Amino acid sequence: MTGHLKADTVVADSKYGTIDNFLACHDEGVKAHIPDLKRAALKRTKSRTIFTDDRFEYDPQTDTYRCPAGKVLKRKSLHTERESIDYGAPKKICVACELRSQCTRNKSGRTVKRHLRQDELNTMRELSRSAESKKDIKIRQSLMERSFARSTRYDFDRARWRGLWRMRIQELLICSIQNIQVLIKHANKPKKTVAAKVNALEAALAGLLSPLNALIQPLGFELSYNKWTDFQRA
Ligand code: SF4
Repeated sequence: MTGHLKADTVVADSKYGTIDNFLACHDEGVKAHIPDLKRAALKRTKSRTIFTDDRFEYDPQTDTYRCPAGKVLKRKSLHTERESIDYGAPKKICVACELRSQCTRNKSGRTVKRHLRQDELNTMRELSRSAESKKDIKIRQSLMERSFARSTRYDFDRARWRGLWRMRIQELLICSIQNIQVLIKHANKPKKTVAAKVNALEAALAGLLSPLNALIQPLGFELSYNKWTDFQRA
């Protein structure tokens, strides 16, 4: 979303499925195809056999929740930093509730949190579970995850220099190395390991190396290889 490029969809893993990220995407008009981090938390709550927040029904007319025991949870406190409101039933009701052991371990009773922008958050979370989103997430796992993991060997996760144009060079180099590796892998397949193809590939690599080095040498960076399967940073 920087410079002249405008993304209309962000695809990422669940680590990025946070409230802040969903709302930032909402404000930018960008689709967030990201698994929801909160769902993982909900699963953890389920494993402790405690009622999850989705068992509490919100009523926008009265701005209250109704719990599984049918009791009303009203606003209790506002957390400005967290941008959320806590809802709860009176302590004596929770203490006397026969569902209490399934609902809370808190002596003061059960609390449910609601974000100040909960409706927008719900919309973004619902969209993140759409068929289109699931498809993007799946494609990303197979296409990008392995590539990202491999690219960290070449410092993809670390900026060597300051400035976007320098970073662009670094990233293009890393992408080039990965593409060369893909070429090598294809040439290495048994049915394609004929000497002529290997020689042609070696020649192609040698041809690539020179312009790449011309680009990066002013920055004190140089690539070399001793044999065609051993591509290294000098
Ligand atoms: S413990 Fe409180 S919030 Fe939970 S079900 Fe009982 S009355 Fe409702």
